[in-house]
Amino acid sequence: MCRLQHPELLDAAHIIPDSQEGGDPIVQNGLSLCKIHHAAYDRNILGVTPEFEIRVQQKVLEEVDGPMLKYGLQSLDRQQLILPKHRTDYPDRDRLEKRFSLFAS
Ligand SMILES: [Zn+2]
Repeated sequence: MCRLQHPELLDAAHIIPDSQEGGDPIVQNGLSLCKIHHAAYDRNILGVTPEFEIRVQQKVLEEVDGPMLKYGLQSLDRQQLILPKHRTDYPDRDRLEKRFSLFAS
C-alpha cells in the first residue's frame, strides 16, 4: 500500500500474528508495509478487506491534522492494495478476512 521504493523502510507485517493459529511466517500471511503503516495495521488503524481493499478507521478519517494524517493515512481509504506479480504470493484471503473482522469490530 505504501508506494515507497525504499526496501530499507519496509517491514514484513503479519496478517495473523505468529502467536495465533494460522500465524505462519509465510509470504501469504504477510503484507509489505512501511514502518508507519505496519504500526497502523497492527493497531487496527488500517485494515485490509479480503477483497484487498484498504480501510481506515472511521475516527481517524474524521480527524484534521497535518500531511502525514492526510496523505499517509486518510488518502489510503478504499484504495486497492498493490498486489505481488504472482498470484501464489497474494495475501491469503481467509487470513485477511479473519484479521479484518478485528478491524471492523
Ligand atoms: Zn506505508
